[in-house]
Amino acid sequence: MSLGDRLRREIEHDGPMPVARWMALCNAHYYATRDPLGVAGDFTTAPEISQMFGELVGVALGDAWVRAGSPEGVRLVELGPGRGTLMADLLRAARVSGLAPAVHFVETSPTLRAAQAERVPGATWHEALAQVPDDGPLLLVANEFFDALPVRQFVFAGEWRERCVGLEFAPVLGKPAPLLTIAPPGTIVETSPASTAIVAEIGARLRAQGGVALIIDYGYAGPATGDTLQAVRAHAFADPFVDPGEVDLTAHVDFSALGASAGVVSHGPVGQGAWLRALGIDARAAALKTRATGPQREAIHAATARLTGENAMGELFKVMALTGTGWPTPAGFAA
Ligand code: SAH
Repeated sequence: MSLGDRLRREIEHDGPMPVARWMALCNAHYYATRDPLGVAGDFTTAPEISQMFGELVGVALGDAWVRAGSPEGVRLVELGPGRGTLMADLLRAARVSGLAPAVHFVETSPTLRAAQAERVPGATWHEALAQVPDDGPLLLVANEFFDALPVRQFVFAGEWRERCVGLEFAPVLGKPAPLLTIAPPGTIVETSPASTAIVAEIGARLRAQGGVALIIDYGYAGPATGDTLQAVRAHAFADPFVDPGEVDLTAHVDFSALGASAGVVSHGPVGQGAWLRALGIDARAAALKTRATGPQREAIHAATARLTGENAMGELFKVMALTGTGWPTPAGFAA
């Protein structure tokens, strides 16, 4: 049975499907059945734009680890590692500070697990963070992971109603969902229980074992309203309710909600551009250019601009750090 038929059958049986369940089922199918990254795919991410991105994540984690006293037994965890590119670049840079930890990938897609195994031999794979051993300090990175997790949407229509998907595969109002505030008619608010639950788990590990988590994604720093569910296919926006499982569904990340759910000290979020500059992307780009051909120098310049530019990824993408007991403020965040 196709995913569309399965969705239709579930809606027939249970009534309108909450947007969060739609997003979860569609994305599980989407990621399990393809490598969506790169020019030939649907979207491109920072580590696929330049090796400098993963290297600077490695510099930041390696530096925090050294300043924490280089503790033994570190578990290096990446959530949603894509092709494994970020981790491969990270490990190369982190080795400079003497950090050579056990690598754990949290990844549900068999297709992407295979790609990750090629780039990071020796890693261990898990279906969920809960399965990663919690016996040592945690160094964690998640780039464009939380935006792929399901959001619940609520619409104000005299009372709050959950936004659902009907049999026609179009948005409909679902059951009343009591929220405290009132709002102008048509206002939409989003929550991501899946995201806040994972951040609470990260926070609990950081409290118990120490460590640093870096969360990088596009999103907003304060409470906001509005529908941020979006679909992307072949590098263009698409309709999130058409062709289920064949388009990438994401929602903006609410960093204030993540920070509030962690139960540990949070830093930022700061813009990705400012963060990369503070970590030395310009010096790294200059160093790479000295060994590059003319076209390669152009590419390094373009990648730096794309990762840091205000109208590119520098502002909309944000970086937030969570730190465990006794761990320093990571580089790139004001102390
Ligand atoms: N971090 C990578 C890939 C981002 S795409 C990069 O920056 O290039 C999102 C990643 O999260 C994919 O690897 C996808 O398979 C994974 N993913 C999505 N939902 C997930 C879930 N619920 N549990 C684990 N991994 C998930």
